[in-house]
Amino acid sequence: CPLGPALLFVKTSQGKQEGRRFYACSACRDRKDCNFFQWEDEKVSETRLAAREEYNRNHRPSFTHRQNVERYKNFVLLPLSKRRFCQAEWEKHSNHQFLCDISTAQLKSPSQLLYPLENKKTNAQYLFAGRSCRFLLDLIIDLGFRRVLSVGTPRLHEMIQSKASEEEDFKVRSLLLDIDFRYSQFYTEDEFCHYNMFNHYFFGGEAARETCRKFLYQDNGERVIMVTDPPFGGLVEALASSFKKLMAMWKETEKEGHNNQEMPMFWIFPYFFESRILEFFPSFTMMDYQVDYDNHALYKHGKTGRRQSPVRIFTNLTPSMIVLPVEEGYRFCTICQRYVSSGNQHCEICNSCTSKDGRQWKHCVLCNKCVKPSWFHCNNCNCCTLPNHTCEKTDAGCFVCGKAGHKRNTCPSLS
Ligand code: SAH
Ligand code: ZN
Ligand code: ZN
Ligand code: ZN
Ligand code: ZN
Repeated sequence: CPLGPALLFVKTSQGKQEGRRFYACSACRDRKDCNFFQWEDEKVSETRLAAREEYNRNHRPSFTHRQNVERYKNFVLLPLSKRRFCQAEWEKHSNHQFLCDISTAQLKSPSQLLYPLENKKTNAQYLFAGRSCRFLLDLIIDLGFRRVLSVGTPRLHEMIQSKASEEEDFKVRSLLLDIDFRYSQFYTEDEFCHYNMFNHYFFGGEAARETCRKFLYQDNGERVIMVTDPPFGGLVEALASSFKKLMAMWKETEKEGHNNQEMPMFWIFPYFFESRILEFFPSFTMMDYQVDYDNHALYKHGKTGRRQSPVRIFTNLTPSMIVLPVEEGYRFCTICQRYVSSGNQHCEICNSCTSKDGRQWKHCVLCNKCVKPSWFHCNNCNCCTLPNHTCEKTDAGCFVCGKAGHKRNTCPSLS
């Protein structure tokens, strides 16, 4: 499909044991955005294949990355009064809004110029609040990294790029991989690759892949870290598979040593996906730091926003090295050897700081683990759960988060 190789899914229907397998778009979960569909065993005629190729060709962006870079070069030569930027949604020709007198400073913050694509099911662009973005960058620098592979983190990329152009002794470099092709209007082919993180597809072909490989190549001891903040509705399995391929790319590029190491990584994702992420990356730990967003009313920091953000950092770095800001209430637990939220109490029985959401959790002796403060132990269900739940058994776990007790359409992680 236009977004690269499709993924193989399985359609299960109630009562039937085996589902039927089909290919569908890797990135669009809404059929309105991409309606590619093919049964696994379906024979596709030559005419349909040709039509499909034609369709894919027609759905490429109207300008190439190179053309966009050329246009940018000409744009910056224009006097301020002639610099206008159209904020309309990509390829949607209604509600055009123009910004005038585009300054050089504005060109360094494309994420502020571009209208965030909030289409929940496909792009879901939630931009870091300045505080969280600065925290991430400071942490990366303090940990000694000099190269950042920014996968779906345009605002972090932009902060790095803009500092690099302003401060002479700022040595950090970043390469942005993102599916939002609008960024090709601001960054060269060495700074941005049009990439789909659900199928590890480089739209720019071998040349773009090579750019990424080159970037991962560790020159004179410059250490690389990958930072990613995928759309939360995304399939963890598909993401993990792509990230493993990026990790493999990093491994290949290493000259010597680090044999048993993984490419250092920050995967930013909601805490309720912890078990799913650990399934694919057992070496990862979830940090307590709450990542805040600008354009997400719900995901604001506890003290200022209405609710606490459920978004965390998962990393394969040693937890004790991830220093969280004490002025925001985080403290170091000497037993767990990691920084935790102020409300996260060390449970003597679990021998761990068990809270996932920042509130103080309570230990249930029957479940033999700590649970959310609002839960109680239901003897019917034989586990701790919400007081107003209906006792019923669901044999299979939820399709989205993998947890038992609910199905995908009522999954709390999607609300
Ligand atoms: N908090 C980040 C943005 C995260 S929003 C920041 O401020 O930098 C998710 C990002 O992933 C967006 O930039 C979006 O364009 C990108 N994205 C969404 N689907 C993608 C896909 N299939 N492949 C690559 N990037 C994708
Ligand atoms: Zn602890
Ligand atoms: Zn406990
Ligand atoms: Zn219990
Ligand atoms: Zn019950």
